Amino acid sequence: MNTGSELLLGTTLNTHGAWMGMELLGLGLRVQRQTTVPDGEAIITALGEAMERSDAVIITGGLGPTSDDISREAAAEVLGVDLITDEAALRSLEAFFASRGRPMAESNKKQALNPVGADILPNPNGTAPGIYAPPRMSGDRLCALFLLPGPPNELRPMFRAEVLPRLRALAGVSGDYQMQVLRCTGVGESDFHQDLDVQLNAIEGLEIGYCARPAEVDLRLIGKAEAVRKAASIAQAAFPEQCFSACDENLEQVLVRLLSEQGKKLALAESCTGGRIASRVTDVSGASQVFTHGFVTYANEAKVEMLGVPADVIERHGAVSEEVAIAMAEGALKSSGADIAASVTGIAGPTGGTEDKPVGTVWIGIAIAGKSYAVHRCHNRGREVFKQVVSQTVLDFLRR
Ligand code: ATP
Ligand code: MG
Repeated sequence: MNTGSELLLGTTLNTHGAWMGMELLGLGLRVQRQTTVPDGEAIITALGEAMERSDAVIITGGLGPTSDDISREAAAEVLGVDLITDEAALRSLEAFFASRGRPMAESNKKQALNPVGADILPNPNGTAPGIYAPPRMSGDRLCALFLLPGPPNELRPMFRAEVLPRLRALAGVSGDYQMQVLRCTGVGESDFHQDLDVQLNAIEGLEIGYCARPAEVDLRLIGKAEAVRKAASIAQAAFPEQCFSACDENLEQVLVRLLSEQGKKLALAESCTGGRIASRVTDVSGASQVFTHGFVTYANEAKVEMLGVPADVIERHGAVSEEVAIAMAEGALKSSGADIAASVTGIAGPTGGTEDKPVGTVWIGIAIAGKSYAVHRCHNRGREVFKQVVSQTVLDFLRR
């Protein structure tokens, strides 16, 4: 349960939910429900409900010294116990302030309050200690409760040091539960929903999920190591070319890794993608080893001046054409001295198409010493999706 009015106002992105979900999955534990509540009384109602349906509840935030920080009080109320000062926690708060040469405000004292029967979880990175209330009856089940500070730099170390070991002991989990994500391009979601889906669903103890993005489908496999291994090999055999990563790498990461393994250099000449492909490549750490030049040649004159595309080729075939795509890629290859160059020229829309070349038309050129070619695609799906899909297609060509 994540507390904080800022999370519901939208001014702070709730990253704790996603982060803890991943951490817990590594333990074989699944989050069954995630609740976000504003600071204040709502925490009491939500906590009462959560404890009745869960084996463990984790509350984040609301452990600060201000009047809107009431997670501690809410926990005591729901647990039906008093809050008492934990002397050791008070001393470590005093030491925390002394070590920084600051006086401790009266309001900070409430951060040493602990519900009777609960343990204090040390916080080496801030003033708010965490709280752990061991399992106790709530409704008709046993439920453990954790309270953790809101700031991510305090929550994360405490979660790993104090929460995970306790949950591991409580749940008796072996830890051989895992998640693997296979990322595929050039296949649609529906391609998975045929034979492959049936085969994967037949694997015992395996949970599968799909996530569709522009020009990509991610297949998520969750279960015991053996089940995940079996499912991954079936899926990879079904889509040997299309499955570009079995370890959750994106296309640009795969491309940069492959180019650096092969010791090859890349240059790009972009028109309609406006530098999107270069931007994606340079998002990858280590891109400087493989990426030499990114030309953004939007105007025809730029294609002529920067890439040496013959003006008469543009005049005869139009800027969005096979000939210009090839000339752009060849120009980028020549002026960069790279081993491989890719180009794109197209009509992102929503206006500007013709009958011959409707909105969404794009030519992708590839030049490698002594060989160049171009391929045609049409993606009339709005400017943003167009750029993403085209960049995805180019990265996919380059990695093959
Ligand atoms: P503090 O002692 O700082 O008052 P707290 O336990 O009361 O600690 P909050 O006041 O709720 O925590 O949050 C402190 C900081 O942590 C804020 O910057 C807040 O935006 C951030 N934060 C809180 N919850 C989340 C969350 N779910 N995801 C991301 N950031 C968060
Ligand atoms: Mg606070």
